[in-house]
Amino acid sequence: MKYKGKFGEYGGFYVPEVLMPALEELEEAFYKYYQDKEFVTQLNKLLGDYAGRPTPLYYAARFSERLGLKVFLKREDLLHGGAHKVNNTLGQGLLAKFMGKTKLIAETGAGQHGLATAMIGALFGFDTKIFMGTTDIERQSVNVHKMKLCGAEVIPVEGGTGTLKDAINDALRYWTANVTDTFYLFGSACGPHPYPTVVRHFQSCIGKETRRQCLEKIGSLPDMVVACVGGGSNAIGIFSGFLGDKDVRLIGVEAGGEGIKTGKHAASLVAGRIGVLHGSKAYLLQDEQGQVLETESVSAGLDYPAVGPEHCLLKDTGRAEYVEADDDDVLDAFELLSKSEGILPALESAHALAYLCSVKESLSPDITAVVNLSGRGDKDVGIVEKYRPVMTK
Ligand SMILES: *Cc1c(COP(=O)(O)O)cnc(C)c1O
Repeated sequence: MKYKGKFGEYGGFYVPEVLMPALEELEEAFYKYYQDKEFVTQLNKLLGDYAGRPTPLYYAARFSERLGLKVFLKREDLLHGGAHKVNNTLGQGLLAKFMGKTKLIAETGAGQHGLATAMIGALFGFDTKIFMGTTDIERQSVNVHKMKLCGAEVIPVEGGTGTLKDAINDALRYWTANVTDTFYLFGSACGPHPYPTVVRHFQSCIGKETRRQCLEKIGSLPDMVVACVGGGSNAIGIFSGFLGDKDVRLIGVEAGGEGIKTGKHAASLVAGRIGVLHGSKAYLLQDEQGQVLETESVSAGLDYPAVGPEHCLLKDTGRAEYVEADDDDVLDAFELLSKSEGILPALESAHALAYLCSVKESLSPDITAVVNLSGRGDKDVGIVEKYRPVMTK
């Protein structure tokens, strides 16, 4: 491959030989089209008319008052599909079209990426297959129905624990046998090169817009930008707009889950060691023997044992800070935003809010924070009810 896709020692493409031609073809096509005038024009039109960009930067006055600092929300929750994921699926879907592919495959855990891919599959008229673990299919039946309504085929993955990790393995395996007509639409800024670079690029619209909106609305850059981190795509999307602004603190919040008590969590950057998973070197949750650990969190969308390579480098250089929020604090933050603003955040995004709630005492009232509200919480109402029945009484 022409570019190595390394972020310091992280990233790369640790994949079987048979997969190399597919990744090379994708790399070549990405660099051919990502700045191509026709491609950019078509993508921008779709981001506007189909997805609903630009999303607002909203000053959350009542939430700010409760916290004692100024909080702006980047409203990715208002996008079509209810999350930032459509930025990436539109970008990669259009790339697939420009490459002349006719079939899409994708992996999904919670079903959000599967659904965002199924939407785009319908939009472009692709034959779409979504690989999903059998455990997840059971847990996320609403999203399974939605994917099918968009015309996608949901392929149950029996192996392992029937979750995201297994779905990615099967999707990669299927891809090796069907590379000629099939595009693998990867869901986050991780996995083998060129995906971390491709996904970062298609999510960088969040950071570009946010920086411009801060200058317009606040008249200056924010003191901190906070985002939740699963694989790392919404976080790298917003961070990318501020990497050169050394005075802006960048904070990524991982899922502590119940992990602080039980050892089960999804905080790869906070608690992982360097390893290789799904073709990429990164911080990874593993046991002493190097076995990948099960992750567990109240928000299924953050349940991934590894993280994108660029975040690993940003952690090592200290440019970004990574922390974890546990389930209880996340549910508190969910409730606080819902009650103070009438905005139900996705439980993933509530991790970023929970971080602010946890440090509010140590921050001065003139601090301005931007939180990437990566998605809306409608999908999580059932989970919230289960954990906090009093909240909905
Ligand atoms: C999928 C998802 C995430 C986690 O994915 P990243 O790649 O880390 O952004 C976060 N928030 C929402 C709403 C999601 O749907």
